Amino acid sequence: MDEAYTREQLEAWDDAYVWHPFTPHSVYRTEDPLLIVAGEDHYLIDVDGNRYLDGVASIWCNTFGHQRQEIDDAVREQLNRIAHSTLLGNAGDRSILLAKRLTELAPPGLTKVFFSDNGSTAVEVALKMALQFWQQVGGGEGGRKTKCLAFTGAYHGDTVGAVSLGGIELFHSRFRPLLFEAVRAPSPQFYRRPSGQTREEAELEFVETFDRLVSLHADELAVVVMEPGMQGAGGMITYPDGFVAHAREVTRRHDILLVFDEVAMGMGRSGAMFAAERENVTPDFLCVAKGLTGGYLPLAATLTTERVYEAFLGRPEEGRTFFHGHTYTGNALGCAAALAVLDIFERDSVIEKLPAKIQKLSNELERLRDTPGRADAGVGDIRQYGLAAGIELVADRSSRRGFDPAERVGMQVCRAAREAGVFLRPLGDVIVIMPPLSIRDDEIETLVGAVEHGIQKVLAP
Ligand SMILES: *Cc1c(COP(=O)(O)O)cnc(C)c1O
Repeated sequence: MDEAYTREQLEAWDDAYVWHPFTPHSVYRTEDPLLIVAGEDHYLIDVDGNRYLDGVASIWCNTFGHQRQEIDDAVREQLNRIAHSTLLGNAGDRSILLAKRLTELAPPGLTKVFFSDNGSTAVEVALKMALQFWQQVGGGEGGRKTKCLAFTGAYHGDTVGAVSLGGIELFHSRFRPLLFEAVRAPSPQFYRRPSGQTREEAELEFVETFDRLVSLHADELAVVVMEPGMQGAGGMITYPDGFVAHAREVTRRHDILLVFDEVAMGMGRSGAMFAAERENVTPDFLCVAKGLTGGYLPLAATLTTERVYEAFLGRPEEGRTFFHGHTYTGNALGCAAALAVLDIFERDSVIEKLPAKIQKLSNELERLRDTPGRADAGVGDIRQYGLAAGIELVADRSSRRGFDPAERVGMQVCRAAREAGVFLRPLGDVIVIMPPLSIRDDEIETLVGAVEHGIQKVLAP
């Protein structure tokens, strides 16, 4: 750390000057926030020199650990050339090379890459492109293709367009006056299905409702937007197997563009490079961000097809150009980091090694199911997709009743997990497991063991 400052000073200034995202400041200090000054491999190092396994990959973006030599070197080398220059009407070598590599890795047919700086913008770029696309190809009767279909429980980011698509009451309802309306499909939250309904019945109802909404609104839908495989911030909620391919089939039939928000599940998290590949699907838009630079720098990409791109061609004065761009679009440092990340994927055969880690995580999680808690409290549901999982804690397992949010049980469990050397951040009472892809087997054991310790401590009978 910078030895000139003590922990007490830094904490006082943190309280005085920093407004933290997604953080209730009335309890922030009492919940012992970490003050991180360094990172090494899969560990975060705090101001007192304590090391914690980074169990949520620094909010889901750290791919191969901290101070990863190859990425550090790539960023340093890039600094010797240039940090940033604009992509508006101009080019840069790093972004060219990255766009080429991404299209080679992406599902076939995704041949064009539009860069931005974060997940929210990656999604909004897809939306705006889709809207303009339909105007320029004369889509829908009388150009009516202007609406989006999104899911309950969806999370696509925090800017206004992304929030409009979002389906999480707690995060999104306040902003309703600012938002555009989306056609809302139900959430695949089958753990919360009505009592008396089987899981199979719930899945069937979910698919039928989706199908019905799509055909009902087909003429006015520009896009269907989804997080393929698993809804992340909505509570780590998995879609039924085969639904990703089904959504492609249905949207194709009705000529609706399909947007995959792979901001969380892309870049290996799903077990494949992209979740779309798990069901052999090519969407019309593929959004990637979080893991793209290995968790180093803000960079995002929206991939799309020739069909979409070509609708934007025309003489400049026709106004078919895509008028959207950010100052730091295609930032060279970010692209250099991303290229190094792709090199690691290749050289370390990362994707090939993932199935064994995913299975290891699954085996470890299985042990958690019957961790004893007071009364019938404990683990209600465990949901895993690739190397991501959510452990939903409930006050009563037979009725699936949750805890009073005021108890902040999820937060307490994560705090207790720190005693076992692991840093975690929950989503309400869902404990999130989202380690770097390079995590080792013994660290997976430590990670799940720490959750077990946390549950035992907080929910002890
Ligand atoms: C995190 C996330 C986003 C938003 O990304 P930011 O970089 O935070 O704007 C969008 N979609 C999904 C699925 C995410 O997990």
